[in-house]
This record gives sequence, C-alpha cells and structure tokens, in this order.
Amino acid sequence: VFNENRLRDLIRAVPDWPEPGVMFRDISTLLLSPSGMQMVHEHFAERYQDKGLTHIGALDARGFLLGAPLANTLGLPLVIFRKPGKLPADTIREEYTLEYGTAALEVHTDALNEGDKVVLIDDLIATGGTLLAATKLIRRLNASVVEAAAIIDLPALGGSSKLDNEGIKSFTLTSY
Ligand code: 5GP
Repeated sequence: VFNENRLRDLIRAVPDWPEPGVMFRDISTLLLSPSGMQMVHEHFAERYQDKGLTHIGALDARGFLLGAPLANTLGLPLVIFRKPGKLPADTIREEYTLEYGTAALEVHTDALNEGDKVVLIDDLIATGGTLLAATKLIRRLNASVVEAAAIIDLPALGGSSKLDNEGIKSFTLTSY
C-alpha cells in the first residue's frame, strides 16, 4: 500500500548541491530500500495498467531506474530519452534549459511510430524542461504523451504547471 510519509522518509535532502542555495532531493536512499522501491513501482504500475499505452518513455538517467521495471511489469516497450551523443542510430534532438544550465535530449527516430501513446517517467519535475523536451521529441514522431510521471514535484519551480500549459498532465507521488 502506498504511504507518502514512508516515501518521504526514504528521500534524502542534500543542501547546497550541486550549487549553493539548492536543496537536492536524493532518491539514491530510496533505491537502497527494496520495499520502498516496490511501493513506488506498484503505485505506478496500478495507475498505468489498462490506460491503452503503447510505450513507457524513460528519461536519462534516473528515469531509467523507474521506467525499465514499469515497462517490464506492464509488458510494454521501453523508449529511452538520452543525453546527447549516447544513441548510436538515427536520432532527433531537443535543446532545453534546466535548473542548472542548458542540456539536450535525443531519441532514436525509429523508437516510436505515428499514433503511439507514451507515459514518460523521471525521478523529479523541477522546471519541467526535461519532460517538455521529451514531449517535443515524441510529438515530432507523431506520437502523443498520455501523462508525465515522477516521484517528486517541486511546484515552486513551475514545472508541473508549465507542462499543464503545454497540454501534458503530470502525476507525482510527493512534492516539496
Ligand atoms: P527540470 O528539467 O524539470 O528542470 O529538472 C528535472 C531533471 O533534473 C530531472 O531529470 C531530475 O533528475 C533532475 N533534477 C533536478 N533537480 C533535482 C533534485 O533536486 N533531485 C533529483 N533527484 N533530480 C533533480
């Protein structure tokens, strides 16, 4: 059974990382808890079964840790959205701004087809730039995002409302 307080107990707050003034929400402590990870996994799996999805889309790198088991449980293909220069075949790229600088994401052009329905997953939504970039890649391939899922939302950074404005629903398990 999902217990938000238990989840919050497993997420470590690291002040002033990666730079002064930032409170980093560290999920490596959650990863150290098999029962905590099972709780998170089951919550996502229950939400996304029977939603008519065709794919799980996972964000480099912590999204991979959530997306791979979810795709396995739901029996869905896993599409990986990677930092530049990691994918070997034909790719498309979206550049974006994130909390600490600029970045880009790439996806293989043959990973999705027209009409595919994807749930994106990452560990955390800050400015929403990462999930928005992945959404743009999906839309360029004529597929759609059903929902963007994450463990943590940081609503003060505006990401979940920015996603909402772009027509992307988000689903998170806790917020700070
Ligand atoms: P956004 O693109 O929404 O601004 O930032 C979200 C991305 O940055 C995610 O891929 C996430 O892994 C990473 N990120 C930014 N801040 C944090 C944080 O405090 N904790 C964790 N775990 N990831 C963060």
